[in-house]
Amino acid sequence: MNIHEYQSKAILKSYGVAVPNGAPAFNVDEAVAVAEKLSTPIMVVKAQIHAGGRGKAGGVKLAHNLDEVRTYATELLGKTLVTHQTGPEGKTVNRLLIEEGSSIAHEYYLSLVIDRSTARVVMMGSSEGGVEIEKVAAESPEKIFREYIDPVIGLAPFQATRMAYALNFPPKAIRKAAALMMKLYDAFIGKDCSQVEINPLVVTTDDDVIALDAKLNFDDSALFRHPDIVALRDETEEDAKERRAAQSELNYVNLGGNVACMVNGAGLAMATVDILKHYGGNPANFLDVGGDSTPEKIAEAFQIMLDGGQAKGIFVNIFGGINKCDLVAQGIVDAAKIISEDGKTLPVPVVVRLEGTNVERGREILLETPIKNVIMAKTMEGGAEQIVKLVAEGGSAQ
Ligand code: GDP
Ligand code: MN
Repeated sequence: MNIHEYQSKAILKSYGVAVPNGAPAFNVDEAVAVAEKLSTPIMVVKAQIHAGGRGKAGGVKLAHNLDEVRTYATELLGKTLVTHQTGPEGKTVNRLLIEEGSSIAHEYYLSLVIDRSTARVVMMGSSEGGVEIEKVAAESPEKIFREYIDPVIGLAPFQATRMAYALNFPPKAIRKAAALMMKLYDAFIGKDCSQVEINPLVVTTDDDVIALDAKLNFDDSALFRHPDIVALRDETEEDAKERRAAQSELNYVNLGGNVACMVNGAGLAMATVDILKHYGGNPANFLDVGGDSTPEKIAEAFQIMLDGGQAKGIFVNIFGGINKCDLVAQGIVDAAKIISEDGKTLPVPVVVRLEGTNVERGREILLETPIKNVIMAKTMEGGAEQIVKLVAEGGSAQ
């Protein structure tokens, strides 16, 4: 789960991490009121969206007086910001963060993420902050430093100090930088984060070390023990289909393509996405319906996949272990009744590969119904190839 920059900064502040003074604003008057309270010579007006790259896209403005704050706030609120992280459709700005301006001497990059190959949290740092870290990683990987953190010991003070020296913090800022890293790690562990990214972390002309930007992501599986984090959810930033799926306990991730797939089990779902790609298809989603599918759940999954017209075909790939193939088949029939106007025509071709428990009964159900557009596939490979072909042709299966 993602949250906004101002929310991330509030959490970090509660752990003692230095962040600029500021507050969120939801309309222009609030923005001016926050700025008035700050009464600093320079104020920063920052668009709050769940994406980075705002600076380059015009979403971060330096204001020198309240009039400028008003102008920038008016300009940004309601605007669609397109950054390299939003995709071409961009994101609408509904909230702002108004902060005191910092006098920057140097910008650094610092993050904590989970490194799966070592099964540890890794702290990554670079003296090349403020820019896209992916670029630094690609062009000058030697400028990125890493500290792998022992889960029992935690981030050791010597590691934080070593990182501060590696990044070339000025002598007066070394201790402050190392102390900030220790607090960041506390926040990462304390809130069950999956990522903490500070880009830029800055040294000011007074040798203070401040987190000028902050991006916190959380491990969804640990959210049950952080109701305070769940309360920060901004549903307007989330994919509507993913949200709807979560309510029905369907694991759905929008992948942007046009071949939808409905699968049981995360491993098979990933393999299905891969095999669709292998045959030249463009998967619309990852969808794991889980092991206890009811016809209602299957019908809901169909509606989610078809909603909005993104899917031009559906590949159902079920290996019935705990799931019963006949219940899945019944779900497809029920879905057709709900979705189609005549109760039997689905708007896109559906290729179904069923295997496992009650498969014979499942096949019978699909063959007996008057639903059109449903084709039974014998194998996973054959089914994938067929749906990709049908979608490419834009045709329907009869
Ligand atoms: P992002 O582009 O979405 O990652 O937004 P950031 O919060 O990282 O801001 C982008 C850039 O704006 C930073 O790298 C800074 O160069 C600049 N910026 C942000 N806040 C301040 C500030 O208080 N003072 C100055 N001088 N520049 C700032
Ligand atoms: Mn940034």
